[in-house]
Amino acid sequence: MLKKYNTIEDKDFDISDDKFRRLKIFTMHGTVLRELVGTQVSGDCPFCDKEKHFYVNWEKLLWDCKICGEKGNLQSFLNKINERNKKQINPRLLHALAEERRLPDKAFSWIELGYNHGQYTMAVRDKDKNLIDLRIYRIGSKVMATAGMQTGLFGLLEMLQHPKKPIYICEGEWDAIAMQWLLDSISKPGRAVCSPGANTFKPEWVDFFVGHSIRVCYDNDIAGTKGEMLVLDRLAKKVKSMQFIHWPSGFPNGYDLRDCVSKYAFERKRPKRTFRRLKSYMRDRPRTQISADQEDALEGSKTPEVDPSVNIEDVFRIYEEHLHEPSRMGIEMCTIAALASVFDTDPVWVFLVAPPSSGKTAIISGFRYLSQPYDTMALFLSHITTHSLVSGMETRRGDPSIFAQLNGNKMAFYIKDFTTVVSMRDTDKEDIYAQLRDAYDGYTMKSFGNGVKREYNNLKFSLVAGVTELIYDESVNFQALGERFGKLNIGRGNDVEFSRLAIAKSMLTRDGFKEMEDKCAKTVYSCIKNLAKRAEEVGFKLPKIDKDLEKAIIGISLYVSAMRGCVSRDRYKRDLIKSAPYTETGIRFAKMLAAIAAVRAFMYGRNVAKLEDLPILRKIALDTVNQRDEELLRSVYYLNKDKHTMPFKKNILEDSRYTPYTVKCVLEDLCMLKILEKYRTGRKHLYRLSKQMLSVVEEAHLYDDEYTIKRKNPKVHLRRSKTGKGRHSKLILKK
Ligand SMILES: [Zn+2]
Repeated sequence: MLKKYNTIEDKDFDISDDKFRRLKIFTMHGTVLRELVGTQVSGDCPFCDKEKHFYVNWEKLLWDCKICGEKGNLQSFLNKINERNKKQINPRLLHALAEERRLPDKAFSWIELGYNHGQYTMAVRDKDKNLIDLRIYRIGSKVMATAGMQTGLFGLLEMLQHPKKPIYICEGEWDAIAMQWLLDSISKPGRAVCSPGANTFKPEWVDFFVGHSIRVCYDNDIAGTKGEMLVLDRLAKKVKSMQFIHWPSGFPNGYDLRDCVSKYAFERKRPKRTFRRLKSYMRDRPRTQISADQEDALEGSKTPEVDPSVNIEDVFRIYEEHLHEPSRMGIEMCTIAALASVFDTDPVWVFLVAPPSSGKTAIISGFRYLSQPYDTMALFLSHITTHSLVSGMETRRGDPSIFAQLNGNKMAFYIKDFTTVVSMRDTDKEDIYAQLRDAYDGYTMKSFGNGVKREYNNLKFSLVAGVTELIYDESVNFQALGERFGKLNIGRGNDVEFSRLAIAKSMLTRDGFKEMEDKCAKTVYSCIKNLAKRAEEVGFKLPKIDKDLEKAIIGISLYVSAMRGCVSRDRYKRDLIKSAPYTETGIRFAKMLAAIAAVRAFMYGRNVAKLEDLPILRKIALDTVNQRDEELLRSVYYLNKDKHTMPFKKNILEDSRYTPYTVKCVLEDLCMLKILEKYRTGRKHLYRLSKQMLSVVEEAHLYDDEYTIKRKNPKVHLRRSKTGKGRHSKLILKK
């Protein structure tokens, strides 16, 4: 195939693709080729600038100049160009480059830098010091390799001269130059090398690294993540040690080593601190463990563009277009989870509870772009299986456990469907609950029969999991997780009209469902990236919590821990109490609510969390405790409040949908936990909230009418009953 190519002078000449590519070595370094004469191409000499007397034989790739007499082969051409370019560099040109790259001039002292006609060149040599590539950089564009040359390791010779130093494998020349300068400026041992990009690591390079300590510092993007896997594949078990940089979640996509070194070490003049910071990002494993088939699926996957104008209201709007009345609180919760890990708050773990196909999956799915391969802010899974959190399997790429990915990374963890766990066998389920419980507290360890021992000591992540109402039957097993999980019920109960409209909407939008879903996910991604960026701008400083809200949070936590208290009864003799009733302290829950409130305030652009952030916290509290107990307690509360009288048990029975025996047992348990008080007058059983519980409920604004928040608590006076017969105080409410 012959194609026509233009010379710079706009003359056409016919030459095959392959031949032309070989000639590019000459044209890329400033040779103007003009005419094809047999096997020769003639043009202008790059060394003496004389026109039309420079000849290249495109078959043998030999060249000569009839004027200045220079001649040779490809290698000698490149060597000569390199030597000439090196002579042409001067302090002014060097400074221009350094300034544009935001690095000090001396950072470039160890490289063979050259310049010619607007382009900088950097020499790449092999282990025998042969020049194998001359990289070209024009200010404002990307670094290019000289066409047709070998891909080499930039910095290889220097690395081989210092065999005992740790090696920093970087992505691209600028990262390597920045890293080397950082190391030199604080006299830390180490050599930086790089290949042209993260997707290149040649098998023949492996020998250079055998027995060394390796640190892989690739960019914060998909290519970087995949590049790490390639390095791991090539070097695993051949090197002394290997570490990988894990950019904190919330860092922009594409963030790289030079961004960090330029900003913190050079511009802010804090090289030592920058080095410590980078060191703290290093982990013993790559950022992700992508399996081979996932990798295929990755081809062509692209991180969505971030639209800087998108905010949380846009997210609500797009979800409302997509779904019928989606739960705002559900969307808020998922967003808060992502930001909680950006701010590194106490863990926020919440179940989104709703019946099957009620939109919770669609809400959580909207957050998938935060996860690999698109981003590293979150881990997104459809469901988890028995061995997925901690796995004893040994794979080529190391530990495939989910905890291995979460360990040391501040991420959000989204599980689309947790119901699969709820319907597992009890032993499997208990195993998973125990692992989660440990993970919440930051450390878990497990040994396997095959001698593998997994240990994770740096777990800290936020977690949102979708689950059906089956989770409420989990009381016994679930005790293990205790106060670690909040629940947020975003279902609509048995609202038939709602279901009717939801079904109608899903039929209407069926055709564009996938596009709509993708649009949602992209909007969510932009919104969270924008919020994360703002978080960085404010130095990850969380809004404060004002006094009113603080009081309410304490109330809510006391309420939840009291309601989660447990009376253990004998299995057969229900009257027999096995041990003293106990309650949890509620500290974990309070911390979680405080984190949610603060992040929510930030999300809405406020710098103080106030009572207006309370509704979601209150809903989580009411949805978290046993729903039957909550309902009965609420009945007792309202009966007291509305009628200003003591309720009879009969009233509660009429008010609830439970059998008399159930009501009796629950009320008795609640009394034993000092949540209710019971006494008799004549033949009547009377129940009311205990003094302490009443004050807790009022403080937490738990049952304020219509869930509205009143700034002032209603005045509650506790007085001796005037009839004075009972030992108990009578509750009198005053407006
Ligand atoms: Zn010449």
